[in-house]
Amino acid sequence: MYIYDNLKNMIEFTPNFPLRQYNTFGIDVKAKYFAGFSSLAELHELIDDKLFMKHPSLILGGGSNVLFTKDFDGLIIHPKLEEINRIEETNEEIILKVGSGIIWDNLVEYAVLHGWGGLENLSAIPGNVGAAPIQNIGAYGAEIKDVIDKVIGIDLSNKKTCTFKNTECEFGYRSSIFKTRLKSKFLITHVVFRLKKFPHSLITGYGEIERILEHEKERTISVMRTVICNIRSSKLPDVKTKGNAGSYFKNPVVDIEIIEQLKKRMKDIPVYETPEGDYKLSAAWLIEKSGCKGIRSGNAGTHDHQPLVLINHGNATGKEILELADFIKEKVYQLFGIVLEPEVNVI
Ligand SMILES: Cc1cc2nc3c(=O)[nH]c(=O)nc-3n(C[C@H](O)[C@H](O)[C@H](O)COP(=O)(O)OP(=O)(O)OC[C@H]3O[C@@H](n4cnc5c(N)ncnc54)[C@H](O)[C@@H]3O)c2cc1C
Repeated sequence: MYIYDNLKNMIEFTPNFPLRQYNTFGIDVKAKYFAGFSSLAELHELIDDKLFMKHPSLILGGGSNVLFTKDFDGLIIHPKLEEINRIEETNEEIILKVGSGIIWDNLVEYAVLHGWGGLENLSAIPGNVGAAPIQNIGAYGAEIKDVIDKVIGIDLSNKKTCTFKNTECEFGYRSSIFKTRLKSKFLITHVVFRLKKFPHSLITGYGEIERILEHEKERTISVMRTVICNIRSSKLPDVKTKGNAGSYFKNPVVDIEIIEQLKKRMKDIPVYETPEGDYKLSAAWLIEKSGCKGIRSGNAGTHDHQPLVLINHGNATGKEILELADFIKEKVYQLFGIVLEPEVNVI
C-alpha cells in the first residue's frame, strides 16, 4: 500500500483494488489504484499527488450507473464527503448544501423526515449525491434539476473550485453538462438543494401513483415516499441478489415524423409528449416487442418484468453484458429503425 507521506491527512492509494462491491452490476474487475477522500483538504492532496497526475482517473460513487468491461488501468477516486449543512432557511423553503459522499436515498429519507418536499418521488434510487446531477436523475414524474440550486466541484484540469448555477448545468433528459462537455473533467464535491416546506406540491400523475393514493388516508411526502419505495421494490430486481444498473438504455427522444411513420405500422406504440414538446418512446416496450424480454445469454440477461434492466445472473463479465446490450440494440434497430442509447456509463 502506498501511503501519502503527510501526517496531516493520510491519503491511501490502495493498489490492485477489487471493484466487485463498488459496482451494482457486481462485475469482478480490479482498479490499478483506489483512493477515497473525506475532506476537501484530502481531495487536494489526492489530485496534487503524482499518482493522480500519471494515471487516467475515474470518479466512482455508488457504482450504480457504470458497467466495467475490463480492469481499470488507472486511479479510482471515491468521494466520501458526508455532510449536510443548512445554509439558508425561510418559512417557505430550506437550502441544503450536501456532500457528494452521502447516499442518495439517505438524503431523501432525511428530507422527508424533516418535512422538506421535492425529493420524495426520487426515493430508493441507488447511488450517491455527487452523481445525482450527472444524469439529472429522474423517476415518477420528477427530476433532480427541479430542486437543485447549485452544483459545486473541482475542475480537474486546473484544480480550481467552480460553482454552476442550475441554469448553467444544461440539464436535459438523463443528461447535464457533467455527462457531456465536462464528463470526467469535473469532480462534484457538493450539491445545493432548494427544498419546500409546507404546503408541498405532490407529483402524482405518473403511472399508478394516483390509483394507489386513493387508498391512502392522507397525501403527504412521507406517504409518497412509501408508495414509491413499494412500487420500485415490486418492479425492480434487488441489486444484492441480481446485479444490475437500473435502466440500461435511455428512452429514445424522436421527432414527430418518426412517430407518424411508426404509428402507421404499430398503432399501439406508446408515445409520451415531454414538457419540452419532444416525443419519447418507451425503450422497454421496443425491447419487449423485439423479443428481448426475459432473455438470457450465459450469465447475462434481461429482467422478466422490466426488459430495460440488464441483469448479471451470476458471474457475468462486463463484456457479456455489453454483448447482450449490443444484441438488443441491433434487434430494436432492425424492427423499428430506432437506435437505443445507453444510459449506463460503459467503462
Ligand atoms: C436498481 C437501480 C435503479 C435505478 N433507478 C434509477 C432511476 O429511477 N432514475 C435514474 O435517473 N437513475 C436510476 N438508476 C441509476 C443510478 O442509480 C443513478 O444514475 C445514480 O445517480 C448513480 O449514482 P452513483 O453514485 O452510483 O454513480 P456511479 O455509478 O458511481 O457514477 C456514475 C457516473 O457519474 C460519475 N460520477 C460519480 N460521482 C461523481 C462525482 N462526485 N463527480 C463527478 N462525477 C461523478 C462517474 O464517473 C460515472 O460516470 C438506477 C440504478 C439501479 C441500480
